[in-house]
Amino acid sequence: MCKNNQKDNENNTDKSVHSMPYYTVKSWKKGETYKLFPCPFCGGEPDVKYKGNDYTKTRKVTVKCKKCRCQRTDAAMRNGMEWLEEIAIKNWNQKPSV
Ligand SMILES: [Zn+2]
Repeated sequence: MCKNNQKDNENNTDKSVHSMPYYTVKSWKKGETYKLFPCPFCGGEPDVKYKGNDYTKTRKVTVKCKKCRCQRTDAAMRNGMEWLEEIAIKNWNQKPSV
């Protein structure tokens, strides 16, 4: 009654199969990159846009899908772009609750 032994051996050959596909985007911080999951709606490639700098009061980070153009923006007044970028990318990577 035990037919599972063969299947177990096959699955152990490639561990990378389990990792989700993602896009690598350049971070605001020089030399660093982030992992961005594909658009939760259409699976398209996301694009990250930055607005504002140390001389403006408001900073905005927008993650936008190139394909279906859905987007989400996070804004901050006091915190820096590096902090905001981290939040924006975390939020994007969170799958909408099902
Ligand atoms: Zn999309």
